[in-house]
Amino acid sequence: MIERIREDTLNLMKIPGLSGHEDLVRNYIKEELKQIGLKPIFDKFGNTAVTFPGKSPRVMLFTHMDQLGLIVRRITNDGFLKFERVGGVPEKILPGQAVSAIAKNGKILSGIIGTKSHHATQPEEKYQVSGYRDLYIDLGMDSADEVRSNGIEIGSAVVYKPSAEIIADDKITGTSVDDRAGCAVLLEVARQLSSRSNGPEVNIVFTVQEEFNLRGALPIAQKIKPEIAIQIDLLLASDTPEMRDFGEIKLGKGPGLSMFSFHGRGTLNGVIPHPVLVDHFEQTASNENINLQKSAHIGALTDLSYVQLVEGGVASIDIGFPIRYSHTAQEMCDLKDLVGLAKLLSSALNSLPENINLIRD
Ligand SMILES: [Zn+2]
Repeated sequence: MIERIREDTLNLMKIPGLSGHEDLVRNYIKEELKQIGLKPIFDKFGNTAVTFPGKSPRVMLFTHMDQLGLIVRRITNDGFLKFERVGGVPEKILPGQAVSAIAKNGKILSGIIGTKSHHATQPEEKYQVSGYRDLYIDLGMDSADEVRSNGIEIGSAVVYKPSAEIIADDKITGTSVDDRAGCAVLLEVARQLSSRSNGPEVNIVFTVQEEFNLRGALPIAQKIKPEIAIQIDLLLASDTPEMRDFGEIKLGKGPGLSMFSFHGRGTLNGVIPHPVLVDHFEQTASNENINLQKSAHIGALTDLSYVQLVEGGVASIDIGFPIRYSHTAQEMCDLKDLVGLAKLLSSALNSLPENINLIRD
């Protein structure tokens, strides 16, 4: 199990898949699902699902395959790309960042986000962060014509230059740990479920456009009509010097439950998990000797915020793995947490009672 999760995570992290441009990631997931002997279905958005038929309750277990990045807004006469942000891209880490631009013909072009030479930087500029509108991508090309003839146009997708590496004791660093690690975990859960003999109906879904508008999962949720929705994504680790007061999530100390999420920046959305599901996952973790962590904070949310409201309401819970440096080009997670998460999910799904009472009366 550990080798498969390691390999899938590293492979998936190296594939560019900006929100709305997930085709290459979907191809990888599709092939892996076929290898397991499953027949995935797709919708118009690109959501990819496999169903394991079974008894009540109907479960949707999902995670997003897209990543944040940039989109080309304008190509200057001298061949630089001005851009918009797609998702929560931190502007302070952009200058000097290596990027990959996806050309029309599928070719991946390397570039960098330009920044003023240090030797020319004035003392008062040294501690300033430039807004993205002042930044540009340099593909090393000399004119707009050259850029266009290489297949880059307005609307072309740009991502952090993909990278994936194992450091120290199975820590994984690089691009899009959020949420390719989640995809690798659900591929493993799919392998486990493919050999089960009974249990609830489980729909494993790899969703799209989460980083864009948090609603890419909605069309497929409306089709599946789940009674229970379980969403897999990152949990913010708070074990680095600048995060200490944020919470108690530690890298390498196991998967965790989000007990409260709220965006706090305009969407007025978040998830308070269903107490019966919290109990079930806590009991499963205890039976399986898996250390379970907990988070509760504002500032982050997932598309579960919207999925929980479909078809008369869905009993919902966000479950995740700790991550450091979220939304940068060098995120970090611990392979042990991913393995623990896959075990927790497989076991919790197998032991989900058929008569589980989700109505709060
Ligand atoms: Zn995510």
